[in-house]
Formats: sequence, structure tokens, C-alpha cells
Amino acid sequence: MYTLEEINRIREEVSLGLVHHGSYPDIVFPGINDWSAFLELGPRAEAVITNQTHFGSDGPMNDLEMGGFYIGEIAERDGDIYGVAHDVIPLQVPGKRSSITIPQSEYTRVETEMTLWNKRNGTNFVDIGWYHTHPGNRLWLSDGDKSNHIRRYGAEPRFMTVVCPKNSTLQSFVKSECRECDTISNLARG
Ligand SMILES: [Zn+2]
Repeated sequence: MYTLEEINRIREEVSLGLVHHGSYPDIVFPGINDWSAFLELGPRAEAVITNQTHFGSDGPMNDLEMGGFYIGEIAERDGDIYGVAHDVIPLQVPGKRSSITIPQSEYTRVETEMTLWNKRNGTNFVDIGWYHTHPGNRLWLSDGDKSNHIRRYGAEPRFMTVVCPKNSTLQSFVKSECRECDTISNLARG
């Protein structure tokens, strides 16, 4: 039905998020429709998210979106993806009520912070993804969230967590496909 060339092209387009794999039910997409993923929030990452987002409180600070980047480890084993977030580098840009814009200068600052973090701790951890809040809103990915994720990480397996501080819930997603995955944490689940 498809030539090898066509299959490879379609796989490439799906991995870039240009088309949905569901449009090609007879093609297997390694790393997309044959895997599962787990994101573990370590105690420090969890503490920072809880503190920064005023998790579980309904104060006025919770009305604006905020977020940050995970610093951690990621591995693929037998097609499954495992990530551990050891710490978080919070964004220092103020968000709006229903969006957050991350300027290039902020990405640069985060890179610098990660390098310093690794130096301080004698580690070699990487940017395994990011999180942001949807104050009082559903735990879903907007088109903007997806395009931000794909622009930064391309087809790399990286995590994205959406947090609702008002309802004390969160949900993680993974990869350019931006599908839901399991979050391992002591926090409430979304
Ligand atoms: Zn969002």
C-alpha cells in the first residue's frame, strides 16, 4: 500500500507533529503508538512546583500562568520512556491569565542555570521538559502549548506537565505527539 519511501516520509511528518498518526492506522509508528511513558517528580522538583504555583491555595497569585523547566534524566527502555525530574528551574517571566510567553532571553538564562546546577552537584542532568499552570482551567494542551513544545524539543522524547494550582491537580504529557502519560508523584493527580 505504501512504499518504504512514503512510510519514512509519513513517519517523519508524524514525528514533527505535522500530521496525526491516527490518519494512518495501518502504519506502525515506533515510539508513538507502541510505548508508554512515566514521569517521576523527585521530592525537590515537587517541592518547587508546589511552592512556586501556590499549589492548593486559591490566592490571587494563582490567577496568572507560571511555569519552569525540569532538570533530570531520561531514558528509553524497550520502547518505553522513563523520566525523573530532580529539580526545577522556575521561569522568571510573568504569565497572563491564559497564556505564558517565553522569550529567548529566558531560554538562555535557563540553560545557564542548568549548567551551574550540574557544576554545583557534579552531575550531568539535562532539560527533560517543562511545566506550566492553567489556573482554574482544564489539564489539557492548547495548540500553543503543543507548538511551544515541538519548537523546543522537536521529535525528542520530552515531558510537559500542566498544573492547576487551584484544584491541586496535574497531568503530564510526552513527546511531540503530546499524549498523556503517567506522573509519579505524591501530589494529587489530574
Ligand atoms: Zn497551556
